[in-house]
Amino acid sequence: MATSIIGHLDADCFYVSCERVRFPGLKGKPVGVLGNQGACIIAKSYELKAKGVKTGWPIWDAHKLCPEAIYVKRDFYWYEELSRQLVETVRQASPTVEYYSVDELFFDAGPLLKSRGREGISDLQKEILKETGIPVSIGISLSKLLAKLASDSAKPFGIDVAVTEDEIQALLKGKPVGDVTGIARQRRKTLNSRGIFTCDQFVKADRRLIRKLITKNGEDIWWELRGVSVLPIATSRPPHKVVARGGSVGAATADRLRIEAWIIRNIERLTDALEHHGYVCDKLGLMLGYKDGTGSYGTAVLLGPTAYFEHLAPIARELFETGYKTGKKVHYMHLIAERIQFKKDAQTSIFQKEPEKSLTGTANFVNRHTGRFSVRSAATLPLTDIYRDDANEYDICDIYGKTCF
Ligand SMILES: [Mg+2]
Repeated sequence: MATSIIGHLDADCFYVSCERVRFPGLKGKPVGVLGNQGACIIAKSYELKAKGVKTGWPIWDAHKLCPEAIYVKRDFYWYEELSRQLVETVRQASPTVEYYSVDELFFDAGPLLKSRGREGISDLQKEILKETGIPVSIGISLSKLLAKLASDSAKPFGIDVAVTEDEIQALLKGKPVGDVTGIARQRRKTLNSRGIFTCDQFVKADRRLIRKLITKNGEDIWWELRGVSVLPIATSRPPHKVVARGGSVGAATADRLRIEAWIIRNIERLTDALEHHGYVCDKLGLMLGYKDGTGSYGTAVLLGPTAYFEHLAPIARELFETGYKTGKKVHYMHLIAERIQFKKDAQTSIFQKEPEKSLTGTANFVNRHTGRFSVRSAATLPLTDIYRDDANEYDICDIYGKTCF
C-alpha cells in the first residue's frame, strides 16, 4: 500500500477573517463575532484573544477587558459562501477533498508535495489568501489525525510538514493526548490514570492496552498517530443516522405559545434539511431542556416515512402536549428526525398519503426565490422579534456539506 500524504487545512479565526473580507477596516483590530441574540462571543480575533477574552463570554465581560474591541453579528450565510470558495480553491490543487467543517478540510497532499515540495504547499496557502481573502494554516503528514495536529501547531498562518520519523516524533513530543481529535475528557482521564499523558507516551503504549482502555476507536487513533492512515479522506458524505434542528430559544420561557412557535420554527428548519438531503424519516423526537437543568424527551413513530411539514408538525405538537412539564421554563430544544432513509428508496405508507400539493414544497419553492422564512407557519408569529433580525436566518447546522467525526 502506498503511503498516504494527507493535508489538513484550518482557516485562522475563520468567522473574524470572513468579516474582514467584507469589512477590511477590521484588519489588525480586536474583533469579536457574536452568537445567538447578540450577547455571547462565538469567535474572536488573535488581537482580542491576546487581551484574555475567551470564546463563550458575554459581551459585557469582554468589554471590561477590551473596551476598544469591535463586535459584529454572525452571518453564517456569508461564512458558508467563503467556505465554498475555499474548498474550490483547494480542489484546483487536489481533487480529493473532504469538507470536514465550515473552516476545515482534508485533502490528498501527495502529488503536490512530491512534485513541488514545501513550496507547493506554501503557494497553495498564498493562492487561498489571494482568491478568498482567508488566512489558513496547513498541516501535512501521513494520517488525518497527524495532519490535524500539524496544522494546529502551525497556527496562525503557518505550515507544518511532518512526514519523516523525526518530524513526526517532534510533533508528538510532550503534546497532551487531549489535543487529539477523538480523545475527549473521559478518554483522557482513563489514559491519564494509566500514566499516559502525552501523545508520545500514547504511541509507545501497547496497542492491546489502548484497545482495552478506549475501544477499537482508540486503537484507530493509535495507528493514525503512528503514521498509519486508517481514517480515509471521505469525499462524499455518509448518510446521516439522525437529522436534528434546534438550539437555544434565547430568554428561557414558560409561555406555551412561544415554546410552540419555536417548535414549529424548528420543524420548518428540519423539513428544509430533510428535503435538501433527499431524506425521509419515520420517527420524530422532541427534546426540551429546562432552565432548572432538568429536561424531557419523547419520541413518536410516524405512520410512514415522510419529510412533509404537514405530517411532522402535528406530531411535534403532540409530543409537546404530552411531554412538556407545565410551568417549567424552556431553555433549549431539539427536534430530531430518526430512522432516516433516502426518499427514493422509501416505501410510502398507504395510511399517510403524499399530499397532492404539499405545503412544504410550495413554501420551500417560494422561499428559495424570496428569502428564507418569507413564507412560514402562522404558529411562529409569537417570534416576530426573532424573525425581524436577519442574523437569525441561518444557524451553523443549516450549512450543508460538512462532515463530522
Ligand atoms: Mg479554524
